[in-house]
Amino acid sequence: MTQKNSSKQTQMRRCVSCREIKHKSEFLRIVKLADGNIFVDETGKAQGRGAYVCRLEKCALELKKRRRLDKQFKTKVPDEIYNHIVDLFTEHF
Ligand SMILES: [Zn+2]
Repeated sequence: MTQKNSSKQTQMRRCVSCREIKHKSEFLRIVKLADGNIFVDETGKAQGRGAYVCRLEKCALELKKRRRLDKQFKTKVPDEIYNHIVDLFTEHF
């Protein structure tokens, strides 16, 4: 057997809201760049310190309510970032 068991363990991430551990592809990544800028990393490839949150409305709302990113990034994250993330996972009627 030559099946490649690539470093699956290192691909696991934890949601900053619900603390569940899943494969990183299941999360939305938020990144803090070296210059302090924080943005939603749609590609998951940006350089910088990352935070991960489930692609679920409940986790997005929890993230905003408890300002989880502030703690994660040790800085005040702008409301627009939180609102953007909630927006991504909220159904608009
Ligand atoms: Zn979650």
